[in-house]
Amino acid sequence: MSSTPTSELIARLTGVVGDAGLILDAPGKAPFLRDWRDVFHGQAVAVVRPKSTAEVAGVVRICAEFGVVITPHGGGTGLAGGATPLDAPGQIVLALDRMNRVRDLDIVDNVLVAEAGCVLQSLQVAAEEAGRLLPLSFAAEGSAQIGGAIATNAGGVNVLRYGSARQLVLGLEVVLPDGAVLDRLRRLRKDNAGYDLKQMFIGSEGTLGIITAVSLRLFPRPVQTQAAVVAVGGPEAAVELYVRLNAEMGEFLSSFELISAAACKVSLDHLPDANWPFRGGWSVLVEVATSSPEVPLADILEAALGRALEHGCAEDAVIAQTLAQGQGFWRVREGASEGERAAGKSVKHDVSTPISRIPALIRAVEAGLAERFPGARPNIFGHVGDGNMHVNVILSPAQANDPQAPERINRLVHDLIAAEGGSITAEHGVGQYRIADLYRYTSPVDMGVMEQLKRMLDPAGLMNPGKVISSAAAVDGGATH
Ligand SMILES: Cc1cc2nc3c(=O)[nH]c(=O)nc-3n(C[C@H](O)[C@H](O)[C@H](O)COP(=O)(O)OP(=O)(O)OC[C@H]3O[C@@H](n4cnc5c(N)ncnc54)[C@H](O)[C@@H]3O)c2cc1C
Repeated sequence: MSSTPTSELIARLTGVVGDAGLILDAPGKAPFLRDWRDVFHGQAVAVVRPKSTAEVAGVVRICAEFGVVITPHGGGTGLAGGATPLDAPGQIVLALDRMNRVRDLDIVDNVLVAEAGCVLQSLQVAAEEAGRLLPLSFAAEGSAQIGGAIATNAGGVNVLRYGSARQLVLGLEVVLPDGAVLDRLRRLRKDNAGYDLKQMFIGSEGTLGIITAVSLRLFPRPVQTQAAVVAVGGPEAAVELYVRLNAEMGEFLSSFELISAAACKVSLDHLPDANWPFRGGWSVLVEVATSSPEVPLADILEAALGRALEHGCAEDAVIAQTLAQGQGFWRVREGASEGERAAGKSVKHDVSTPISRIPALIRAVEAGLAERFPGARPNIFGHVGDGNMHVNVILSPAQANDPQAPERINRLVHDLIAAEGGSITAEHGVGQYRIADLYRYTSPVDMGVMEQLKRMLDPAGLMNPGKVISSAAAVDGGATH
C-alpha cells in the first residue's frame, strides 16, 4: 500500500459501499482472516462487502489507486488457502456475500443467471423449483458460493455426466484488476467470435479479477434415480466395471465413486449404524438417473450389473430399494473424508489421472507408502468416472509428530501422479498451499504463459497475490522463466 493513511482509504471505501458494507472490527474480520481448516492466517484493514457490480468496480478502482491488495472471498470453503489474505499489511478482503440475487432463470434458454455471492445450494433449489437441474453438486454446497465454485472450477458428484464448472458456465461478468467490467454474461451455447475469455477466469482462484455474475446451463430434472453399491476386487476391477457400465448405459450414468477397503473402514468406524451392504473390501457407488418416466431404469441397471457379475469384474451388488437407502449409501461415501478427521492426522491429495492409469497409481502409492512410510494408511476414494481421486494418507502417531512427514509423503504421491501423466490438484486448486508443487510439476513454458497472463491483466500484482502464481513472478519484471 502507498503511504496514504488507512483512514483516507476507509473513507473512500465507505463512500462506495456505505457503513453496512464494511467490517472493521477484529471479531467481525476474524472469520475472513483464517481458512476453513485453520491452517492459513492473514491480515486485512477491512472486509469490504459490496452489493452490486458497480460497487465492486468502485472498490477495485480505489484499491488500484491506493496500491491495496485484494483477496476475493466466497463461502470460504476452499482448502488451499486461496480466500485467506497473506500475513502482510495493506490488504482488504472483498466478500461477495451481499451479491446474492438470481438475476434471471429462463426455461427456454435453460439458463440461470446469478450473482457471484449466491450460495450454490440456493441455486440448485431455484433450478429445481423451475423443473430444471443445476448439476454442480459437492459436499460443501450449503456454504460455497457460485463465484467461489467457478473461481476454483469446482466439480463434484455429477461431473461424469454434466462436466465441471468449466462445462456449465455459459457466461461471466468479471471486474478486472483496473476496475473495468468485462461483460461476457452471455447465454449462448455456441459462440466463435474471438477468444473464449470466460475460460481464463474459471479456475483462476481470484488472481485475474473478481467474478460478479455468472450464467449457468440448466438441464432436464431427473425424475428417476437409482443407486447401487457394487463389491469389487480392487481398483483394477473397478475400472473394468466402469468401462462396461459406461459402454452399456453411459447416457444414464451420473456417478461412479470408488471407495477403497481402507476408506470403507474409516467411514464405517465413523458411522457404525450406516446402511452399507459390504464390509472389508473395495466397493463402487453407482448412480444412474433419467428425466424420462418411461425408461425402465431399475431394470437397465439390474441387467447391466448382472452381466458385470457374470463377467467377474463385480463380485456382488445391492440396488437401493428406496430413496432413503440410496441416500444412506451416499452418507458412507461422504463419510470417508469425515471419518478421516476422526482417524488421525492425514495428508491430503486431490489428484487426477487418466482413468486407465488409476489402478497403477493406487498400487504404486500403496507400495511406496509400505516401503518408505510403514504405518501410514492410504485412505483412497473418489470420482473414478472423472479420474479424480482423493489419495489421502492417515499418519501413524510417530509420523504425526514428525514435521517433515507431510512434505515427504506429498512428494512421494505427487511424483507418482506426475509419472502417470496426472494432475496434482483436480478439486481444491493451488491457492497458497500448492504453489511450490505447481511450479515443480508444470513445465516452464506452461508457467511462463500463466505468469504473462497474470502480469498482463494485473501488472501491479494486487489481485490475490501469493496464490497460484509465485509473488516474485506476478509483478512486471519479475519473470521466473
Ligand atoms: C467438504 C468439501 C467437499 C468438497 N468436494 C469437492 C468436490 O467433490 N469436487 C470439487 O471440485 N471440489 C470440492 N470441494 C472444493 C470446492 O470446490 C471449493 O471449496 C468451493 O468451490 C469454493 O467455493 P467458496 O465459495 O467457498 O470459495 P472460497 O473458499 O471463498 O474461495 C476459493 C477461491 O476462489 C476465490 N474466489 C471466491 N469468490 C470469488 C469471486 N467471486 N471471484 C473471484 N475469485 C473468487 C478466492 O479468492 C479463493 O482463491 C470441496 C470442498 C469441501 C470443503
